[in-house]
Amino acid sequence: MRVYIKEVEGKAVVYNAVSNEPIKEFDDISDAVKYAVDHNYELPIRAFDGEFVTDKEGNFLYMDDKKLIEYADGTLVQGAKICPKCGWVAFGEEIVDEDKEPRECYVCPHCGNVFDCTPDIEEIGEAD
Ligand SMILES: [Zn+2]
Repeated sequence: MRVYIKEVEGKAVVYNAVSNEPIKEFDDISDAVKYAVDHNYELPIRAFDGEFVTDKEGNFLYMDDKKLIEYADGTLVQGAKICPKCGWVAFGEEIVDEDKEPRECYVCPHCGNVFDCTPDIEEIGEAD
């Protein structure tokens, strides 16, 4: 089962991620994490700083056993990749580089890292 932990009025509450119903509350977030782990509940992806990762709308994101990024209900998150710098989930975006060339890159909303851009300079003009 997928769960998430949210702080509500100073308590760390474990929620069922699909129904959004609270399961149990704790005084400390580490106890809530331990409870989830002890019950084999699946927690959201955690960034390198330990924060639970959400998309821009605040939906928690999970990783399945094939390392695909999903929402709690199992819907695949398209065009998302783990940021190699901070562990947050970065989304594909079109940006304009220094040479005013538009490129599709992954932009991390957490640390601002821009990575895995396509096309690379060499690839421009090449047919698929
Ligand atoms: Zn990042």
